[in-house]
Amino acid sequence: MPETPEIGFIEGDGIGPDIWAASKPVLDAAVEKAYDGGRCIEWREVLAGEKAQRQFGRENPLPAYSIKAIARYGIAIKGPLTTPVGGGFRSLNVTLRQRLDLYACVRPVRHFPGVPAPVVHPEKVNIVIFRENTEDVYAGVEWPAGSEDARSVLGHVNGRLRKAGAAEISLESAVGIKPMSEFNTRRLVRKAIAYALENGFESVTLVHKGNIMKYTEGAFRDWGYELAREEFLESTITETELYERFEGRVADGRIIIKDRIADAMFQQLLLRPEEYGVIAAPNLNGDYLSDAAAAQVGGLGMAPGANIGDGCAIFEATHGSAPKYAGMDKVNPGSMILSGAEMLRFMGWKEAAGLVVKAITQTIQQGTVTYDLARQMTGAREVRCSEFGAAIVENIIDSA
Ligand code: NAD
Repeated sequence: MPETPEIGFIEGDGIGPDIWAASKPVLDAAVEKAYDGGRCIEWREVLAGEKAQRQFGRENPLPAYSIKAIARYGIAIKGPLTTPVGGGFRSLNVTLRQRLDLYACVRPVRHFPGVPAPVVHPEKVNIVIFRENTEDVYAGVEWPAGSEDARSVLGHVNGRLRKAGAAEISLESAVGIKPMSEFNTRRLVRKAIAYALENGFESVTLVHKGNIMKYTEGAFRDWGYELAREEFLESTITETELYERFEGRVADGRIIIKDRIADAMFQQLLLRPEEYGVIAAPNLNGDYLSDAAAAQVGGLGMAPGANIGDGCAIFEATHGSAPKYAGMDKVNPGSMILSGAEMLRFMGWKEAAGLVVKAITQTIQQGTVTYDLARQMTGAREVRCSEFGAAIVENIIDSA
């Protein structure tokens, strides 16, 4: 990482410009403070969404040039982009993930002291979810009920079912395909284990529904264990081995690889969150788990996210563009700011990342918060989006 890296930013639609305006000074202040001016981010704007449409026409919300620019910078941060419901263009977020092969959706979830949460002990949650980002039922391979394509696919499937003596599917059904591959599973689990090792987590849990979907989700679990054995033999141990050979005590600092059935995992996260660190999950399980876990610690307004591939990473606010609050300088920029902290950590600038997290925590504890938190806290001082950012900057400047 150079001392003055070029980093791309997409402001985003709706509340995007508000939260970016509040977040950028926080990230700049943390870098300045952590390295005494010796490092600095050269921000490069990348046009996407409504801003790109204003410049290049309605048909062009994601110019090829923007995708190339992100690929060249290697790292970018983005605000939310609006996706029209029903017609219009495809989700720009999905397009970016596919075109740049950002195969891991990474969602760190932990509680920040002072943030109101619906559970008694939100502080026990400290997990990072690695969600497979390219396949599963999200591959977009599906056909509407009654269509020629659906009937044709089902006709073929029914032929196979007949041969196997199994019950046939109604030709009037809608049908979707759930692809899951060894290649995509292995690269996701590899990233998850590497992250756990680098960041001091004790376990990686493979979350699947392999009891029901044996050849897709069951294979996800098997391929995950295989990968751990083949590439991380010295640094991991399976939960089964741990109990058989070491009576449950963590052996010489190795990471424990375990698996849980998806429905049980939702219970586990509520009942015994402290037993989980990094989680690796297929696309759909990961999607549900990420939002449920974020809600458990106080909501999406504060949850950071990233989409990471081998050559490129985009860090992003996890909420949407909330159009009704656009330009009101009102919403919480926490998700974007914390995504920025994750970006700094990814760059290896851990001191700056630590400063951001410390200062946002301090600001919330001082009771200086945006409307969404203020309405749930007693004695809080409600401030605007930009004022919240400015208060965090002050805390960074004042930090020892
Ligand atoms: P949303 O997250 O934009 O808003 C839902 C509600 O959540 C808002 O009305 C607001 O009350 C609250 N909220 C959201 N962000 C907040 C913040 N930072 N601070 C305080 N409160 C906040 O969800 P939506 O209305 O379903 O989606 C709006 C648009 O955003 C859609 O076009 C959708 O496709 C898009 N979207 C984009 C992304 C992304 O870019 N990653 C993610 C989700 C949704």
